Amino acid sequence: MDDIAERWARDPETGKTYTVPGSMTYKQWAAKQTGLAKSVKPLEKSTKSGIVKSITVDNFKAAVNGGTIKEEVAVKIADVLEEHNAFNLYNGAVVKKLGSKIVFQTDAQKVGTFFDTLFVLNEDVLGGKTVKDIDKMFAEAKNNVANSFAEAIIHEMYHSKLIHNLNYSQIEALYDELNDIHIDGISKTAIADGAECIAEIGVLVERGEMNAIPKEALKLFERFFGEI
Ligand SMILES: [Zn+2]
Repeated sequence: MDDIAERWARDPETGKTYTVPGSMTYKQWAAKQTGLAKSVKPLEKSTKSGIVKSITVDNFKAAVNGGTIKEEVAVKIADVLEEHNAFNLYNGAVVKKLGSKIVFQTDAQKVGTFFDTLFVLNEDVLGGKTVKDIDKMFAEAKNNVANSFAEAIIHEMYHSKLIHNLNYSQIEALYDELNDIHIDGISKTAIADGAECIAEIGVLVERGEMNAIPKEALKLFERFFGEI
């Protein structure tokens, strides 16, 4: 397990980011990808708006209920998000089977002109593992900066922070741009594209390792999150 990269559009087989074929609009492409969701649990909807505005630990527990991902793993993810006041970044949690190369995904699901953000847990990797097992997996992984389960969750959190409050066409434009950004000097994951780079920087920022961030990368990060 050395590739912990995830993203809303990462190929579960190869670990490579999908590129949207030129002849397709992003929307057409995104519509095709929904077939990947093999074991999506229905989202809990709040009564008034029909949309969960902010995720809770119960959403994570419900997502893993009946599957092979342990409840302690779901609770750990919720705990880390709560510690970082990040519950408002997600509208739901879902479990999918995405092969062996992905741990999490941040999935933006179109709703009108906006989107819901889902925290996706890959059962193929997380199933049957304890929190300790997953910690070890990230401690041993070489191509990302995360050294623990908690830091991998922080990485994921920054994917959601990046797109929070955008509308769907703004995400489309943002990812078009970020797909062409490949900054070296942080990790193999960070080179993949600008979104991965930002998520990796997020981990370093939370860890307080500012001097480990190349100037070019910091400049990219600060464009979205302000001066740090
Ligand atoms: Zn990522």
